[in-house]
Amino acid sequence: MLRVLEDHAIETNGPIGVVNWTNEEGARFPLSMMGSGVWAGSLDLNNVYDLPSVVSDDKSTTVLQELDRIGFKGAIPANWQDGVPMKAHFELHIEQGPYLVNSNQDIGIVQGVQAYKWFRVVATGRACHTGTTGYQDRADALYWASHFITKVRRIAQNRGGLASVGVINAEPGSVNTVPEKVTMSLDIRHPKDQTVEKIVHDTADYLENLDTSIDGSPPVSFHMEETFSSSAMRFDPLALACVEASSQCILGNNRDAVRKMFSGAGHDSVNTSKRTLYLAPPFLLDDYIPRYQLLSSVDQAKKRSAAYAHLRQCNLCPRLCNVNRYEETGYCLIGAERVKVSTIAPHFGEEPCLQGHNGSGSVFFSGCNMRCVFCQNHDISHQRQGFDLTPEDLADWMMKLQEVGKVHNINFVTPEHVVPQVALAILAARDKGLRVPIVYNTSSFDSVDSLRLMDGLVDIYLPDFKVWSNSTSKRLLKTEAYAEHARASIAEMYRQVGDLCFTGDGIAKKGVLIRHLVMPGKEEEGVQIMNWIADVLGKDVFVHVMEQYRPDAHVGKAKRGAKEGAEKRYAEINRAVSNQEIGIVQKAARDAGLWRFAEAARHGGFNI
Ligand code: SF4
Repeated sequence: MLRVLEDHAIETNGPIGVVNWTNEEGARFPLSMMGSGVWAGSLDLNNVYDLPSVVSDDKSTTVLQELDRIGFKGAIPANWQDGVPMKAHFELHIEQGPYLVNSNQDIGIVQGVQAYKWFRVVATGRACHTGTTGYQDRADALYWASHFITKVRRIAQNRGGLASVGVINAEPGSVNTVPEKVTMSLDIRHPKDQTVEKIVHDTADYLENLDTSIDGSPPVSFHMEETFSSSAMRFDPLALACVEASSQCILGNNRDAVRKMFSGAGHDSVNTSKRTLYLAPPFLLDDYIPRYQLLSSVDQAKKRSAAYAHLRQCNLCPRLCNVNRYEETGYCLIGAERVKVSTIAPHFGEEPCLQGHNGSGSVFFSGCNMRCVFCQNHDISHQRQGFDLTPEDLADWMMKLQEVGKVHNINFVTPEHVVPQVALAILAARDKGLRVPIVYNTSSFDSVDSLRLMDGLVDIYLPDFKVWSNSTSKRLLKTEAYAEHARASIAEMYRQVGDLCFTGDGIAKKGVLIRHLVMPGKEEEGVQIMNWIADVLGKDVFVHVMEQYRPDAHVGKAKRGAKEGAEKRYAEINRAVSNQEIGIVQKAARDAGLWRFAEAARHGGFNI
């Protein structure tokens, strides 16, 4: 191709290069899309270098040794930031060939890569002798599995998706024994994330309502657990339009000779798409259904009973009060039947991707499980001000925000101490017709238990990671081991919803957005927080480094009863944060490999 351009003296608008990505298939070295993964920062270079071959007589050879041997290691970093940045990447592939041959077409334009989820399904029955046990007495796990396989295929087919079982292990694995246990894989695919979710939802519903006794035989128990998930990827519309225009040049108006298709497998373009454009396709959604809409009736009932159980013995947050909130209150001062709310309104003080044009439908709760000395909402969080609402009342307000306010989401601000009531309110609002995503806006002093209660109910987690060191958390947050709890909580949030994703209008719909407020003299703690995010969660996490610290609450006030001229309290943070301190945290974030920031967009519009 480059020779053709050269021979015809074609001058391009930008430089063009040819890339032969190392090891896309992951055959000899078992990590697919290896070269592009390192380039995009999805894979660690040193881990890749150390990977050994899986070929039986070659198992001591590593990737690094082999690159050295063939002279392909190179001197330029395989890195999208410092090495070889790209504006656009086009991939030529033959894998879609059979589709084109079968339909007698010439060019396939791959629009994106399908979403898929993997599961482990375990059916457990009872082992018995094949010769002495009649059908009516068999709890045959493999027979049950065969029904499941045909049913799940039909479920996927009805939604235009694919469901496949590729691995089956029957135990005890004897010719004359009815299998007691079957462990199998399940792979569900569709070009849209939401359709994969629907297929999973239909399958879970089928399992919940299944009569586990087939043909009158003893019942078989079963369990289905997600093991891997990969979101759908849509390639950039502009790049696709270029390919389409080129196809027309070649084929004229013979539009039938071109086929638009989705790829069923991963490709290097999945990695390069993350880094070539501002509108990174991996984080774009076609449409979105809130997670609470996909909960089965059984899961809803389980959530309700878990919520009541937590209220009867509250250890919901790290304060571990162990109180029955129907009879007394704990550290947060809020009981069981009602929450105290300071303000409910469309709010325009959030990140642009949350507030959009109509505002974020915010519910500011009174009370808090922390006592930050600089709290900028101390009048509502430290004092019990506001009005009391039952979960049912709260659901009505949520509907009002949606129907009258036309807000983009419901944003629960400081909900850590009222998680059960919030869960009940979301379920009630779901029945009333709520359709917008739920935002959980937290100081990160949560517990993994309370977050598990919110799993399936929350779409966007908005954790504020405040400080890193224990001495700072003791002095300024009046809280022991804050960072330890924050790390565990944020990791659980990320496990539930992953990276922040948007619809094409620039509004966030699902994922985690981590905030960090830079504080005077605490910039090194911000650096550690950024490093932890990049190292533990990943480099694609969406981060907001906030600059608006101002002294408030107890900071800069005289001690009660202190003499005139006495030193003010918390003098070390009694000033605005400097540009230099903010710059140190921002630089650390970029140096750690983070790149998705809530900051002014360079291209106009929302920065997604
Ligand atoms: S939510 Fe309130 S009552 Fe429950 S453990 Fe936390 S502070 Fe205590």
